[in-house]
Amino acid sequence: MAARQPDPICQTHYLDWLDGALARTPSGGAMAIITAVFSPGERLMSASLGCHDAQQAVCAVASRIESLLRPDDHLLRAGENEFILALDNVLNLEHALLAASRIVDLFDRSVQIQNKDIHIRFSAGVALYPQHGQRASELVQKARLAELMNAGTDERFSCFNESFMARATQRHVIEQALKQSTEENDFALVYQPQIALNTERRMCGLECLLRWPSAPTEGGSPDVFIPVAEETGLIDQITRWVVNTSMRECSSLLASHPELALAINISPPSLRDGHLADVVEDASRIWGVALDRITLELTETAIMEEQFRCRDQLHDLRDLGVSVSIDDFGTGYSSLSYLTSLPINELKIDKSFIRDYASDARNERVIRSIVDLAHNLGLAVVAEGIETEAALGFLLSLNCDVGQGYFLGRPAGLEALEVLLEPSLV
Ligand code: C2E
Ligand code: CA
Ligand code: CA
Repeated sequence: MAARQPDPICQTHYLDWLDGALARTPSGGAMAIITAVFSPGERLMSASLGCHDAQQAVCAVASRIESLLRPDDHLLRAGENEFILALDNVLNLEHALLAASRIVDLFDRSVQIQNKDIHIRFSAGVALYPQHGQRASELVQKARLAELMNAGTDERFSCFNESFMARATQRHVIEQALKQSTEENDFALVYQPQIALNTERRMCGLECLLRWPSAPTEGGSPDVFIPVAEETGLIDQITRWVVNTSMRECSSLLASHPELALAINISPPSLRDGHLADVVEDASRIWGVALDRITLELTETAIMEEQFRCRDQLHDLRDLGVSVSIDDFGTGYSSLSYLTSLPINELKIDKSFIRDYASDARNERVIRSIVDLAHNLGLAVVAEGIETEAALGFLLSLNCDVGQGYFLGRPAGLEALEVLLEPSLV
């Protein structure tokens, strides 16, 4: 097999190597270029594992990929967190996508290095020779563009498509506008009620959700602009704004309603910068909100991607009295070991399970299992995305602690939610 172990030489010469391989492709032949980006990258792993173990982890990852390759396929290291695969004689697009899917699926389970579980996540992009270009630089650029298009979606591999060029331009427009709005704090917050699913069914919390009123067309959903904010580094400033503004806006409501908690969403990069606990502590002091009234929502994926850095942060937050909720629970990694090793207070069942529970009996079983798991571990459990009375009834029958969703209350300005503080709402 001609596949290569990670090799620093490849990092500078992989384009030359690929151009040579393309030149050797017989006329009528085809090649797929797959760029596979992994996180955490080697530098981040080095910070916590040490250089030697981080290199070993990358080699273990490379070996796993190699185990999938055919003798004529090639694995190249293209950077700190990127491999490039050159697949000879691909039959068609489906063939190339199957290869990309196998690579990302390989890392659903963790890699073991020095008895430590390392969770690696892959995102891949595919470009085809000669369809998408003649030169290695163009093909790699298009495969990278395809890979970038996975951000903010559930996709973990994509093939280049001409429409990506237009989307890349659109993304650039969103990025420029977002920079401007971040400088000017041109955002707003809405709040969605969280309802205690006991006999009184009163509001017990509010999740604060970010809105961008002056967003360019198609950039207005947080699902679109938050990934852009994360990739451009603007998210740290936005998170500071969200933490401060939500505490300022909610301070008097929280003071007059001691049963309410404020939930704030936190993106993975904000765990990385190491100042999250300080930001939250400073805001609580300035706005007079007790820290035990704050819940930070972190996704499972965020916790796993930032596993090296978030442990200390989570302990700092726990020491401050802040609660941590695992958002979108059930959609991320299959490993559950972090649930017992990290200071976590709550699981929030992803809305996709709740939405589809009636049409697919498996979702019902997943919801039931998550509620049991949470309770067995002494954690609270929240169900989001409750849209129907039937879904609410089902969750009540399971003794789920808290519910959230359009059926119980849509995200709205604070004034609109105060009416929900009256008893016997649902
Ligand atoms: P999320 O944290 O899972 O938030 C829940 C999303 O589901 C919100 O979308 C909410 O409006 C929507 N939702 C609530 N109830 C229902 C329902 O019954 N059915 C359906 N179909 N949807 C429901 P939104 O506001 O568009 O936010 C999308 C995502 O953007 C959030 O997902 C969160 O990941 C992110 N986000 C929002 N605000 C912030 C923020 O301030 N900071 C960060 N880092 N991320 C945020
Ligand atoms: Ca959330
Ligand atoms: Ca969620």
